[in-house]
Amino acid sequence: MIEAGLKPLPPSVYQLDAPPAPETPPLDGSRRADVAIIGGGIVGLATALHLAEAGVEVVVLEAQEPGWGASGANGGQLNPGLKYDPDTIEQTYGADLGRRMIAFAYDTPNRALALIKRLGIDCDARQNGTLRAAYSERAATGVEETARQCIARGMPVAIFDERKVAAATGTDRYVAAMFDARGGDVNPLSYVRGLARAAIAAGANVYGQTPARSIKRAANGWIIETDRGGVQAEKILIATNGFTDDLWSGLKQTIVPVFSAIAASEPLPAAMAKRILPSRSNVYESGRITVYYRVDAQGRLLIGGRGPMRPISKPGEIGYLLAYAQRLWPDLREIRWSHGWNSRLAMTQDHWPHLHEPDDDALIYLGCNGRGVALGTAIAEQLAARLIKGASAQLDLPVVTQKPIRFHSFWPLAVRSVVLHGRIMDRLGL
Ligand SMILES: Cc1cc2nc3c(=O)[nH]c(=O)nc-3n(C[C@H](O)[C@H](O)[C@H](O)COP(=O)(O)OP(=O)(O)OC[C@H]3O[C@@H](n4cnc5c(N)ncnc54)[C@H](O)[C@@H]3O)c2cc1C
Repeated sequence: MIEAGLKPLPPSVYQLDAPPAPETPPLDGSRRADVAIIGGGIVGLATALHLAEAGVEVVVLEAQEPGWGASGANGGQLNPGLKYDPDTIEQTYGADLGRRMIAFAYDTPNRALALIKRLGIDCDARQNGTLRAAYSERAATGVEETARQCIARGMPVAIFDERKVAAATGTDRYVAAMFDARGGDVNPLSYVRGLARAAIAAGANVYGQTPARSIKRAANGWIIETDRGGVQAEKILIATNGFTDDLWSGLKQTIVPVFSAIAASEPLPAAMAKRILPSRSNVYESGRITVYYRVDAQGRLLIGGRGPMRPISKPGEIGYLLAYAQRLWPDLREIRWSHGWNSRLAMTQDHWPHLHEPDDDALIYLGCNGRGVALGTAIAEQLAARLIKGASAQLDLPVVTQKPIRFHSFWPLAVRSVVLHGRIMDRLGL
């Protein structure tokens, strides 16, 4: 169960540039709403925004403050697609849903950037593309195959050979890469706070420091109890991702909440800034343990990957990422790392995001598997439409039944062994 009291935000570099969070006082007393949303991250807030814009009375209950979870602390990369390549998506879900999923998932950065523009959110949004980079021949085969499938479908994707990827990244580490022109990036804390502000301006009621303690069936919908009050709502959306607790029976057992960590450098000196990732694209590696990085609008290098499975607050706590960055660009020896932080995301066993509809008046969306900034933004519009129109509103992701992961209680051990195994194999170049 989530403890009462405000926990500080992860100490990310984003706080240096983000505007203050909007006022979101705790819920005190009882109230009613058409829709109650649990979780004030990108998914919860963007859904609230669309609902409020459609004139629906919506309440968001957030245990801490808007964007406190992964949404305000992530890598800020708007990356197209899902984990699986287009052929696999189509084979798994068939021609109709499969094709819709591909069109939707690869368009999500465009949708997020369009929303940011429409709302006028000042969050350093850029669109310099995404590079999925392979450092082994084996990974290169996979990346090139995915690129070929995208190109065959007319997407703005290119295969970069060793020379081209070196020119784009400034390192000779990679054998090949897939470049997708649709990728973009944002300051995620500025973005999610902008979403919260826009949702409130549109009429949503966002309550901070208000953990939902229980959800019960009522005569006409649901009753959500909080420490100092409650909400009676006709419909609910649960959007708690990597912070999912026991609020909804069995939900916690459907995901593995893993930490991902990021280190940020001080702004790179001008000469170095030209040599390190000159393309200013997002990079995420195709490897056993994904390392991802970008140079932000202020010229800082932000590099992320797996780290300790506990909250961290200093770059020194993720020394392996700093050493890895130096391996990519030996120049970085001279650079000071100013920030190190982490947050939790939700992995699913099948690596697909999970959209559950346990009843015609309840939706659950979680299991971002590390892709939630663009995808979470885009799916929110469809979640809102589904909450308004019911089954007649089309969803471009499959609705699946909630299934617990077997041996779920052993996940910390399993994650540790997978991470260690991946690191050793990567070190050996296998
Ligand atoms: C370090 C890191 C880097 C990442 N990098 C990227 C990236 O570069 N690109 C990308 O696309 N994705 C990235 N991701 C994933 C992305 O951040 C997530 O997919 C996305 O933010 C999830 O949004 P959300 O709204 O579903 O959940 P969250 O933002 O995690 O929000 C869930 C919220 O629910 C609240 N909550 C939980 N239980 C309750 C309760 N009982 N009552 C009330 N509130 C509750 C929590 O306080 C939390 O604020 C990264 C994730 C991490 C951790």
